[in-house]
Amino acid sequence: MRDMNLPLSALDAIDDFVEPALPPAHRTRQAKVVWGSRVVTVGGGAPVRVQAMTNTDTVDAIGTAIQVKELAIAGSEMVRITVNTPEAAAQVPYIREQLDRMGIDVPLIGDFHYNGHRLLTDYPACAEALSKYRINPGNVGKGDKHDRQFAQMIEAAAKYDKAVRIGVNWGSLDQELLTDMMDANAKLAEPFEPQQIMYRAILTSAIQSARRAESLGLRGDQIILSCKMSGVQDLISVYRALAKRCDYALHLGLTEAGMGTKGTVASTAALGVLLQEGIGDTIRVSLTPQPGEARTQEVVVALEILQALGLRQFNPSVTACPGCGRTTSTTFQVLAKQIDDFLRAQMPVWKAKYPGVEKMKVAVMGCIVNGPGESKHADIGISLPGNGEAPAAPVFIDGKKALTLRGDNIANEFHALVERYIDKRFGGVAT
Ligand code: SF4
Repeated sequence: MRDMNLPLSALDAIDDFVEPALPPAHRTRQAKVVWGSRVVTVGGGAPVRVQAMTNTDTVDAIGTAIQVKELAIAGSEMVRITVNTPEAAAQVPYIREQLDRMGIDVPLIGDFHYNGHRLLTDYPACAEALSKYRINPGNVGKGDKHDRQFAQMIEAAAKYDKAVRIGVNWGSLDQELLTDMMDANAKLAEPFEPQQIMYRAILTSAIQSARRAESLGLRGDQIILSCKMSGVQDLISVYRALAKRCDYALHLGLTEAGMGTKGTVASTAALGVLLQEGIGDTIRVSLTPQPGEARTQEVVVALEILQALGLRQFNPSVTACPGCGRTTSTTFQVLAKQIDDFLRAQMPVWKAKYPGVEKMKVAVMGCIVNGPGESKHADIGISLPGNGEAPAAPVFIDGKKALTLRGDNIANEFHALVERYIDKRFGGVAT
């Protein structure tokens, strides 16, 4: 309800500075994930990096190389592949070779569990071809074996000068550590809630393992840490605590996020909160693909999260209204989708041809209520006619009304105008 005590000009009362909502810098050490001349910096002020993971059988070198290529073209700056058997390890150099042959220099990350120490020792070409090793301290063996096998993997990383991610996952947490901590807690006069002990065990496993890796000869800037959880509030709690306690680069992701809308929303909620606090140097969105859905969807979502937060720009953005009873035709929905699909499809080529095009804003609006206003805020926008409006669609370019489209061919004509605009503005070509 309007406050009747406001002065006549409410603006007079808003005289304090409105702070722009920019994430603070979380100062981490900068890791480098390298393949040939390609250096992907992680942390230390580098842009938040996007990574993804294949779901092919690594033994199928061609199938895996093709999926890595698809993920890289979609925008994944590093791609993780599972290295679970001797057969898989033997194929890793061939996957690398196929990618190099296709001109795809995306660094490969090897995901190891249980037998990574053996595979990295027995398959030196695999150890060489990978640019980073993912080590899960909960899955490197029990008792004496744990320390020995962990050390073997770290020594391989030091020998081949590779980055490692020490990736704790609450689903495969070091059970000996957890049991010890639970037992100690039970002896306290006022024990903590089990959830607290779980959080502490996850953080302890990550930080102790990283310190141990350093004591074994790895540099701090070769280490990236993660503590993945599947609950949004759990992930936020643990990463806030982790960021306070160390300056290693952090890999961020909600594990087992699920599929479709649920997985996308849960990942966005968790990552959005943390990234806005400056926490997270590289992200992965762990979506379960829906039947028939491309694996690249996890990359699309990751890019959108970073772009929505204003942390990075990857694709031109298309602003479209949700539609309502004022526009019952689907024309604007179809046009918005067409333009969005077209811009995304062109980006792999346009990135080089039209520098800066990723910052472009296009508006496709459904009626006169917000159409002209939103279109003026975009670089190029169209306000389609709503119910009962004259069958005319004004087009706004750089904030000014440029022309009005009429008739049945509005979609194609607007499409052509967008292309011309891009060529003129970003290609330096006179039209
Ligand atoms: S711009 Fe028009 S059609 Fe679109 S949501 Fe607003 S009022 Fe509805």
